[in-house]
Amino acid sequence: MFWADRIAGEVIARFGKKSILIRDEKTPSGRVHVGSMRGVAIHGAISEALSAQGAKNVFKYEFNDMDPMDGFPEYLPEEFRVYMGKPLRSVPSPDGKAANFAEYFAEEFKQVIRASGWTPEFYNVSELYFSGKMDEMIRIALTHAKDIRRIYKEVSGSVKPDDWYPLQVICEACGKVGTTQVTGFDGQLVSYRCERALVKWAEGCGHEGKVSPFGGKAKFPFKVEWPAKWKVVGVMVEGAGKDHSTKGGARDVAAHIAQEVFAYEAPVDAPYEFFLVGGKKMSSSKGRGSSAKEIADLVPPKIFRLALLGKDVMQAINFDPEGDTIPVLYDHYDKLAEQYKTIKDDDYARLFEFIHPGHQVPEARFVVRFSQVAFIVQMPHMDLYKEAEVQKGSVLSAVERTELSERAEYAKRWLEAYAPEKFVFKLHDELPEVAKHFSPEEKKILADIADFIETKHPSAEELHAKLHEHKKFKEIYLAFFAKVSGPKAGWFLTALPVDFAVKRLREASQ
Ligand SMILES: [Zn+2]
Repeated sequence: MFWADRIAGEVIARFGKKSILIRDEKTPSGRVHVGSMRGVAIHGAISEALSAQGAKNVFKYEFNDMDPMDGFPEYLPEEFRVYMGKPLRSVPSPDGKAANFAEYFAEEFKQVIRASGWTPEFYNVSELYFSGKMDEMIRIALTHAKDIRRIYKEVSGSVKPDDWYPLQVICEACGKVGTTQVTGFDGQLVSYRCERALVKWAEGCGHEGKVSPFGGKAKFPFKVEWPAKWKVVGVMVEGAGKDHSTKGGARDVAAHIAQEVFAYEAPVDAPYEFFLVGGKKMSSSKGRGSSAKEIADLVPPKIFRLALLGKDVMQAINFDPEGDTIPVLYDHYDKLAEQYKTIKDDDYARLFEFIHPGHQVPEARFVVRFSQVAFIVQMPHMDLYKEAEVQKGSVLSAVERTELSERAEYAKRWLEAYAPEKFVFKLHDELPEVAKHFSPEEKKILADIADFIETKHPSAEELHAKLHEHKKFKEIYLAFFAKVSGPKAGWFLTALPVDFAVKRLREASQ
């Protein structure tokens, strides 16, 4: 069974088919890494699978704008250093236009999510705190601080001092939240200190005071905030990356706090593996080409969704824009489309439906392989549409032309920005230097191939068979591209003007 249908089945078994709430979140501490799209895609797919099984559901996506600025993205101006430790919603927007830092980076990510065909309801965690919805949870957590310290110790092995309370106040003097420590609670007010050296990434001001922790003046640490939000929002389904999902990890601690302190059963879990870029799990602050927007811009939504949904949730995804990833994804897409023509009820068919926004599967159509499109768009003398019609054996339909032009556009984009050397071809105007020193035997074979093309005007298959007799592909690639490998030689030689191909082969055989 397709993984999203399987998880949806587990959800229905526990909750039935009405009013299911799915949640995911992200802290917009900078440009959002594409890895965060895996959570969006998995929760989005579960939502779609539930709907397909007749289960009413809502997918809520939170931006955690109360989290402190605890890392410094390298693309930020130095003057932003002073905001380290402040809640992200209190840091100004880098462009001076958005309401604040969190809004600015959340907006870019929202656009990627929408463009990819997912439509969660977005909200900011500050709405939960400022509206007073978290107040009751804060009161419970403060009065059960001892239980929470015990759970931390028993589940994760993390030992907190006896005066540690699971809450951080926004310092009234300096506005930072990452530097404060609550030291007591009298039922109304908390006492706190703004510590100079609580964390490495921000320095507190030393202020000590007493303040009401309610109505947006304080926030929970991550592992306590998580279960508090489950209860306040009514979350029934929420997965998390495997870094949070280990035994004794954040999810485990949160589930214990939910049950033992907040009297709420943890949601249905869906732990998932990482989405790596070029083999690395880069942070939001580093790395060219690893933000959600940069990767989403490289491929159309259906191919992006295939990258995100094409593997089981517990398999890592590696997206390498500088490697084979994009042509391989396109080949995978074409294979799914081909199978979908005849089989509509297996896992591949389900995947094919899920990768199209709104499950709008296009009608069956002829396509040219992406790697071939990428080659043709580099050849000034070749007409992509004519070439496609030769391959198809008839005129292209409107949808086929649209798909082809989309592939050409994305191929050009990829070739300019990332494509590995083996996909980049330049047809040389003159015989390349590397093709001037073939052996007498090699020259004789090239002359023979030139004769064959000139007299027979062979089809790609006929020429391919002829070339196989000689096995001299490398010499041909050297003569045209100054490279040792290339696309199917029979195909590209027949696509060249005959005069040009024959002339070049003869020059190489001189
Ligand atoms: Zn302070």
